[in-house]
Amino acid sequence: MKFDQEAIIKTLLDGNYITADDIKKAGEYAEEHRGSPIEYLITEGLASNDIIGQAIAESLKVPYSNLKTKEPSKEQVLLIPEEIAKKFHVVVFDENSRETIIASDDPKNEDLAKELAVIFPNKKIKLTFSLSDDIDAAFVAYQQGLKTKFSKIIAAKGRIVPEIWDQIFEDALLLKTSDIHCEPQEKKVVIRFRIDGILHDAGEIPKEFYENVVNRLKVQAKLRIDEHFSAQDGAIRYVPKNYPHPVDLRVSIVPVLDGEKIAIRVLSSYVRDLTLSDVGLSKELQDQIEKSSKKPFGMILVTGPTGSGKTTTLYSILKIVNTLKTNITTIEDPVEYKIDGINQIQVNNQTNLTFAKGLRAITRQDPNIILVGEIRDLETADIAVNASLTGHLLFSTFHANNASAAIPRFIDMGIEPFLAGSTIEMVIAQRLVRRICDSCKVSQTMTKAKINKFGPEVSKYFVGDNFTFYRGKGCESCSHTGYKGRIGIFEFMTTSPELQDLIGKSPSTKDVLSLVRTQGFKTMFEDGVEKIKAGITTIDELLRVITPQ
Ligand SMILES: [Zn+2]
Repeated sequence: MKFDQEAIIKTLLDGNYITADDIKKAGEYAEEHRGSPIEYLITEGLASNDIIGQAIAESLKVPYSNLKTKEPSKEQVLLIPEEIAKKFHVVVFDENSRETIIASDDPKNEDLAKELAVIFPNKKIKLTFSLSDDIDAAFVAYQQGLKTKFSKIIAAKGRIVPEIWDQIFEDALLLKTSDIHCEPQEKKVVIRFRIDGILHDAGEIPKEFYENVVNRLKVQAKLRIDEHFSAQDGAIRYVPKNYPHPVDLRVSIVPVLDGEKIAIRVLSSYVRDLTLSDVGLSKELQDQIEKSSKKPFGMILVTGPTGSGKTTTLYSILKIVNTLKTNITTIEDPVEYKIDGINQIQVNNQTNLTFAKGLRAITRQDPNIILVGEIRDLETADIAVNASLTGHLLFSTFHANNASAAIPRFIDMGIEPFLAGSTIEMVIAQRLVRRICDSCKVSQTMTKAKINKFGPEVSKYFVGDNFTFYRGKGCESCSHTGYKGRIGIFEFMTTSPELQDLIGKSPSTKDVLSLVRTQGFKTMFEDGVEKIKAGITTIDELLRVITPQ
């Protein structure tokens, strides 16, 4: 539902949650960035989602139920039938002898009140407000496993294939899946979901239905259904039943021994509201990025392997620099998320619109800021360097293991060292680690002897005899993995005059590292260690994504 922003802001102000000055700044931001004042309050950390939730509840004159601090049990969630729960975004928050407390994102809805009266005929119902996202998170309790759901669909003999797909997409979105894989084997087809970077088995489809399952996807993705022996790529805009907005899917089909393997990328519907602090950037790095991104020219590179969250970081930076006074053009592959007020171009290899060609065309139109999805060849690198020398601020991603290795790699592509030195303004490197699940987090003490087992590169960061660490025991909310969601670990290097000189001499990774070390540089690993000490992630998880430098 749409809320009355003014009423919410008035409540925030009356309750002394924010000051009149915050409101003024939020208003200016909203005007300049084509955004909403509430978005500004959240982005700037002036009001948390919970405070906003509370303000909405107050403006609706109902209590606020904070589902983050008190999650309903599985039994409580299941008291409301799945179909009704998903239609109205509603969940049982708590019960006592007198009443059942219901959390809804639309507590004034009369149809909802009627449904609830039927479900709880002998109970007093108290309706409260909760944020839609928090309510949706509780729906994990309805999970049955795709295998069970597929068997039901097949037994019902209805529209089997469309229902199988609806079920796959619904589960994938609920579990915040980034990739869906359908892997044909000799007798069955295994469906796997990538969640927080790790592939999990989600269910299987009997082989006899698979051809139709593939065909339906091919039709939707505008691919050739009579082609079975070569790779095809396509895209689908999918409108889910119980989901607030359409989702873009990139489909790739590749022939394998036992049939056609499908890989579907679910594009960033989850990152749309991410801010730099959600991504895990320290205040220090946020300030640095803001400073560097306000320069009129130069190049800011984000490096890391595929799936390390580079694009999300770039989008979060773009949100900072996206004002009415700037003209921003991007060339991306794929355009992961449409941003208001930015001209976004999609790379298209079929029409020969490559990064290099697109970038050349963009430069001629003279925007202030250019985002190039990736620099992967000399031609693109050359144009990028020229663009940033001639008064454009350019953002891009680049494949390198870490920030100090990015410089020699960039020069190795064939860029003159002195040009690299005078254009590279900042290099950011990142990885994603899984966050410990908040619902089942426990602390444990580890002796120094135990930490030593991780090797000297790890143990040197822990001085003393005993340390308190955190881990997730495993619960329903995290599918018993102990982790929920991910956070970035970062390192960043701003080009100082000394570093600029050094780059001009075509330095090795080691040379770069030893210079920036004297200037206070902190590695990704060290950022990860801080996040372990803060109870955000674990040593095992950090070592899974990165080896200490
Ligand atoms: Zn958990």
